[in-house]
Amino acid sequence: MNTFRARLHQINPTAGQRRWIYSPYDQLTATIGPMSEQPAAQTGLVLIESPAKAARRPYHQQKLALILANQRHFALEQAARGVQVRYLIHENGYAAALTGCEVPLTMMEPAERELRVELAPLIASGRLRVVPHAGWLSSAAQFGSKGPPWRMDAFYRTVRRATGILMDGDQPRGGRWSFDEDNRKPWRGEPAAPQPPRFTPDEVTNEVAELIRTRYASHPGCIDLAALPATQADAETLWAWAKQECLPCFGPFEDAMSRTSSGLFHSRCAPLINLHRLLPARIVTEVAALDLPLASQEGFIRQILGWREFVHHVHVASDGLRTVPSNFLDVHESLPPAYWPGAPSGLACLDHVVAEVWREAWSHHISRLMVLANLATLLDVDPRQTTDWFWSAYSDAYDWVVEPNVLGMGTFAAGETMVTKPYIAGGAYLKRMGDHCGACSFDPARNCPVTTLYWDWLRRHGATVRRNPRMSTILAAHAKRGQARHAQDQLHAEAIRSLLAEGGRLTPDHLSAGQA
Ligand SMILES: Cc1cc2nc3c(=O)[nH]c(=O)nc-3n(C[C@H](O)[C@H](O)[C@H](O)COP(=O)(O)OP(=O)(O)OC[C@H]3O[C@@H](n4cnc5c(N)ncnc54)[C@H](O)[C@@H]3O)c2cc1C
Repeated sequence: MNTFRARLHQINPTAGQRRWIYSPYDQLTATIGPMSEQPAAQTGLVLIESPAKAARRPYHQQKLALILANQRHFALEQAARGVQVRYLIHENGYAAALTGCEVPLTMMEPAERELRVELAPLIASGRLRVVPHAGWLSSAAQFGSKGPPWRMDAFYRTVRRATGILMDGDQPRGGRWSFDEDNRKPWRGEPAAPQPPRFTPDEVTNEVAELIRTRYASHPGCIDLAALPATQADAETLWAWAKQECLPCFGPFEDAMSRTSSGLFHSRCAPLINLHRLLPARIVTEVAALDLPLASQEGFIRQILGWREFVHHVHVASDGLRTVPSNFLDVHESLPPAYWPGAPSGLACLDHVVAEVWREAWSHHISRLMVLANLATLLDVDPRQTTDWFWSAYSDAYDWVVEPNVLGMGTFAAGETMVTKPYIAGGAYLKRMGDHCGACSFDPARNCPVTTLYWDWLRRHGATVRRNPRMSTILAAHAKRGQARHAQDQLHAEAIRSLLAEGGRLTPDHLSAGQA
């Protein structure tokens, strides 16, 4: 804190009448909203660190480091351009810190529901004036007032039409709204996956890391400062890398997984987009102007203009998934120890991705969906526990984005509220889309526990999803397996579940061959 405080003190301007703005931890931008509406010399900025928020969940140490390092650098960057900064640290949270501010404050509406709830009394009392968040790319009207169920595809078309992005007149460029069908290729090592940029931490970032390592020593995960973009310049480096190295191959390998590259052609930008170091509008505009294969260009734009906007609307419209089912399958098992550091399951796919997460505080979409959320769903884990795990572990997780993705999409906890079927799969899918099976002691064609869990999930929950037309083929295949194999699936699945629940490590000896 000493270096940061000393630097801020050195450059912080004091003179002048100022309009005071409060920017929460995830609004680290001066190019939109109230921060952009008057000259720096007339702007005052309040930033708050809340140890209470950091301690609320076992957040990954890298996530805490990312947020604090970016917020402190944002303070210095703003002071350097003439904004007067008040940097507050309050043990009892954001509302308590703001109550002590004697100046009238304006802020953009918080994205996190948790923060909106905390600040509601201050807003109601008129001490804090809230204006709409200028970072979103679509309106509630475009999302529509109907539903649930809500569907991303219909919303995405509306937004494409309204914005004109990737449109030729009233037709989608290339004649299709989505190129996903061309985009489901596994990756076999070619073209080479890009190496993410490395960053050099300065004293301010080092000080943050020291703080996290001492104050939050019991939090899981490790800090890798060379992988941590902390300044606006670092954010620019990451985005330039993503455009140059990732986007040309983004589409075809979007769904692929690999042991040799955690990110493949994914941009790794979500942690910085969600902090507003990188603005979604800028990203979409720049990608639309790039000379890229359309499958990659459309595929990437759909993630931001489609999925990211959509999940935010779902969160708002359902009051944080409170007005829709949140445990549709009525499941209550605990998340097994294998999701935390140091308790491998013996399943190479799960163990590899879990290790990745505790190393990087990040993994890409398909490993989140088809390994982590899939396994938790097949194990009947209470979806709230799975959600809280993702919220703690990922550096891009905030309630508005993690809840729809995990409750709404990954675990089918909200039923068909925002997806058309459960995202579950057995070993055959994992083998097709990744290379983890090559390092596993199980064989996807013979004895993969994921496949056993998959069949047994269909036995337990088939009746609940039987009206879903997208489940009919697989339910028919399950029925064909016959009673004897159903009984064997059940026996083996129970053994797998109880071993994992105890923190045990599965080996082929636990299961007899020929079951998959
Ligand atoms: C179970 C589960 C949990 C998830 N939790 C989060 C989360 O906590 N925070 C988060 O930002 N994303 C979450 N996602 C969505 C997605 O996996 C991540 O946004 C993406 O993997 C981030 O890596 P990236 O920046 O390399 O993304 P890329 O693959 O490069 O995609 C580009 C951008 O699109 C946006 N995006 C893509 N899909 C989604 C989506 N479904 N929801 C929101 N934004 C999306 C992100 O801003 C991302 O940076 C989750 C997905 C699943 C299945």
